[in-house]
Amino acid sequence: MQTIKVLFLDRDGTINQDTGSYIFTREQLILIDRADEAIALAKSAGFRIVIVTNQAGIARGIATVEQIEEVNRYLNELLVPRNAGYDRCYYCPYHPEYPHPVYDRFMDFRKPATGMVERAIDEFLAEGLVVDRSASFFVGDKTLDVECGLRAGLRPVLVRTGHNEEALCLQRNIIPEFVADDLYKAVTEYILASA
Ligand SMILES: [Mg+2]
Repeated sequence: MQTIKVLFLDRDGTINQDTGSYIFTREQLILIDRADEAIALAKSAGFRIVIVTNQAGIARGIATVEQIEEVNRYLNELLVPRNAGYDRCYYCPYHPEYPHPVYDRFMDFRKPATGMVERAIDEFLAEGLVVDRSASFFVGDKTLDVECGLRAGLRPVLVRTGHNEEALCLQRNIIPEFVADDLYKAVTEYILASA
């Protein structure tokens, strides 16, 4: 058994720009400045990269599974040439307000629930890799990302890109370890400095 550390990342508003609605085409996916560089730096410091994204547009009938998976593939096509490819990517198609005969089974996937994180950790374990949660981080732009990280026993970092829910986190007493202007600063100013 080998122990690994993981950088769990939210997608929309953390790696790519949040357009204010669901992102389900290649054209809608635009990387945030230096996000690719940040991921490459984390990888070369030994972090595995896992993307954990709520994609309720599927339950709502706005996007299809095929479209979301195509966008996720495209994201990796952008990242791989920059040495920033992700190791795993999980999305949650479920939405509590849109009951769905198929996607309701993913209820425990929807952040702030930790289903996607636990699935990733289980799948690493099946490969003989033990995730050291106390050395692993969760970076996102929303309160639910920080909450998911906390619930999973990871080290949560909030970024001010995307929805920038810094004030909401304080209001709800869901406190990240660190708040950074963007993913690049989260990695360079905090994660690599404290890993
Ligand atoms: Mg987000």
